[in-house]
Amino acid sequence: MALHDKTAHELHDLLQAKKISAAELTADIFKRIDEAEDKIGAYLTLTRDKATADAKAVDDKIARGEKIFPLEGIPCAIKDNICTKGIRTTCASKILENFIPPYDATAYKKLAAQNVIVVGKANLDEFAMGGSTENSGFHVTRNPHNYDCVPGGSSGGSAAAVAGGEAIFSLGSDTGGSIRQPASFCGVVGFKPTYGRVSRYGLVAFASSLDQIGSFTHDVTDCALVLNAICGHDEMDSTSTAAQVPDFTKSLVADVKGLKIGLPAEYFVKGIDAEVETAVRNVAKKFESLGAEIVEISLPHTEYAISTYYLIAPAEAATNLERYDGVSYGARVDGADVVEMMTNTRTEKFGAEVKRRIMIGNYALSAGYYDAYYLKALKVRTLIQKDFIDAFKNVDLILTPTTPNAAFKLGEMTSDPLKMYLQDICTVPVNIAGLPGVSVPCGFNKSNLPLGFQLIGKALDEETILRAAYTYEVNGL
Ligand code: GLN
Repeated sequence: MALHDKTAHELHDLLQAKKISAAELTADIFKRIDEAEDKIGAYLTLTRDKATADAKAVDDKIARGEKIFPLEGIPCAIKDNICTKGIRTTCASKILENFIPPYDATAYKKLAAQNVIVVGKANLDEFAMGGSTENSGFHVTRNPHNYDCVPGGSSGGSAAAVAGGEAIFSLGSDTGGSIRQPASFCGVVGFKPTYGRVSRYGLVAFASSLDQIGSFTHDVTDCALVLNAICGHDEMDSTSTAAQVPDFTKSLVADVKGLKIGLPAEYFVKGIDAEVETAVRNVAKKFESLGAEIVEISLPHTEYAISTYYLIAPAEAATNLERYDGVSYGARVDGADVVEMMTNTRTEKFGAEVKRRIMIGNYALSAGYYDAYYLKALKVRTLIQKDFIDAFKNVDLILTPTTPNAAFKLGEMTSDPLKMYLQDICTVPVNIAGLPGVSVPCGFNKSNLPLGFQLIGKALDEETILRAAYTYEVNGL
């Protein structure tokens, strides 16, 4: 197996044992990028020189006989809405095309403290708004399993980089499924931690009450390693939780005996592709055969999740995006006066989907409509949260499809935003409730496209998710 297809934990052992060098590994990743990037398009910016210099520093440390951190010397990609000091951070938007942040996002800083090798900044839907990476202001990303298909989104570049051998792991962000859905489409493990587990400091805000940084990895062990690195309270983000961060590698135990796993009826309905449903039901059978108890449950307000999300997220987005006015950040398009300058800047530099969200959000927040839309959505949010609280009185985990179908064709949904929004039905409830969730690969459909299942846990119970995901992975399909 090529180095670029190995896991971080395998590569760590090879590095520490001096069987390979970080320079060799980094060169191998860039060789793969040179071969594949034309077809996949996972990156917006490559940091080849920095990566090469950083790899040398790791090799020097190993040569001195020092022990290295679990992710030290491991090549990774960072979604381009996560600020990296001195490295262009565009959010895949023309408005931030030349923005170079003066500071690091905390999650990235924590990885950098382990001396990971950053290969580049990964493509996304503009400002993380979308589910296919086709809304990038620069170029599309293609699914490494089938170049005619989307990689999912909005963290499509981060998912495709790992699936395509262009990074060993990556960071993404998940506001309404943007880690889990592309992970499912690309056949990798994608983890969204509990809201507040990872600091949002330096993550460019989309919908602040929903946004969360998480990981893409080849396997569950790597997932635990990345979570260990990025989780934890941060005084720069008052919404980050003060809860103790466990050592997530301790959850890598292949045993689900006695676990109660709920299958919510509302996630196995019309609209869910038959092959997806069969795959997820087989996962349930697998868990049962390994000693877990499978119970039918109900999350009765699921049908309102999409409308709730597509009011709350755009409302917060409209507010957060007010800062891009041609004055403080990014691009400016001149005009006769300040109002014209701001209008020209925003008209020219924001893409269609971003403008759509700004309009929906401002409409939902405007006097006269606030009570009917935004306030109502907040009330329904509470009902959706309560559904999960009730369900978790009886079960330890909830098992669902990650997405209603496998990866779709490029261009298939771009003309119908509502159809695209409906793709998020299985993932957005988890953000609305602030819960942790993972997508784990579970085989392929007849067209050879990856399928994934989702495990949802109680707030701050990433450990049980990891334990079940690991058990599944170890025991195979
Ligand atoms: N597809 C969802 C949206 O378009 C999710 C985005 C995300 O999680 N960043 O809003």
